[in-house]
Amino acid sequence: MFRSASSFAIRSSRLLKSSLLTQKQCSSAFRLSTTVGTLKTLSPSLHLTTLSAPYHATSRVAMVSGEEMVKDFSSPVGVDVAFAMQTLAESDCVCFDVDSTVINEEGIDVLADYLGKGAEVAALTKEAMEGGMKFQDALAARLELLKPSKGSIESCLRDTPLQLTAGVEELIKQLKASGKHVYLVSGGFRIMIEPVAKVLQIDPIKNVFANTILFDDKGEYLDFDANEPTSQDMGKPKALQIIQQSNGYKKMVMVGDGATDAQAKPPAMAFIGFGGVAVREKVKATADWFVTDFSDLNKIIKTYCH
Ligand SMILES: [Mg+2]
Repeated sequence: MFRSASSFAIRSSRLLKSSLLTQKQCSSAFRLSTTVGTLKTLSPSLHLTTLSAPYHATSRVAMVSGEEMVKDFSSPVGVDVAFAMQTLAESDCVCFDVDSTVINEEGIDVLADYLGKGAEVAALTKEAMEGGMKFQDALAARLELLKPSKGSIESCLRDTPLQLTAGVEELIKQLKASGKHVYLVSGGFRIMIEPVAKVLQIDPIKNVFANTILFDDKGEYLDFDANEPTSQDMGKPKALQIIQQSNGYKKMVMVGDGATDAQAKPPAMAFIGFGGVAVREKVKATADWFVTDFSDLNKIIKTYCH
């Protein structure tokens, strides 16, 4: 034990200097130590130094480069895998797409099937994609076709609850345990995503960006809220910009299966493509890192962020 606060400070300072930290990192870590009155012994052999404090996730000091992290994987796919891995390890905010990413299906297809209009909606979706229809027009057309009442959506969710993708629950748990903030950013419907957020213990108000269906006072379909950023083209970068500006995040990562998720970089620093449900070749070819199993992301978090 240390005899006094000053000998503790000297010892702490030596430990910091003997580690691989830069002077700037030492100084910020030391300021933190004096604030919380505790400082974990730093060792160059550690992969990552975690300071115990109510402190922003970016205070975690990665002592391993992305190039080193890559060595833990056999033939990872992506245009800049080392960068993506290091950014994920150092990130303070991770945003997930929902359809075919957090859940292993497309919410609107589940609803359309339930309402007996699956084939019609699928044809409309295909037409919209091939014809380059604006996102908001495609959304409006599909909702006009479905005209879902609040009651019909609730019974759809009750009878056929949306299914989480394997490994996502554990990944989100680990991300949160390492101090990272987690958001769901979706072109799908808030009313369908909120139960998913609840299971994942994600705040459905603050940490979910999705489209809002408007109902009349009898619960019949009225319209959708065109003010939601996710209801428009380039909605995901807009949503991430709002998230970043409201919270001052330094390093954001977007995870998703689709081209609209890839658009979220920037403001996301890295884009991780997810092909565990559906592989989109364009996404696979452009993602910083492309994974088909969430355990790959979890490996980075568990190895370098705790
Ligand atoms: Mg998706």
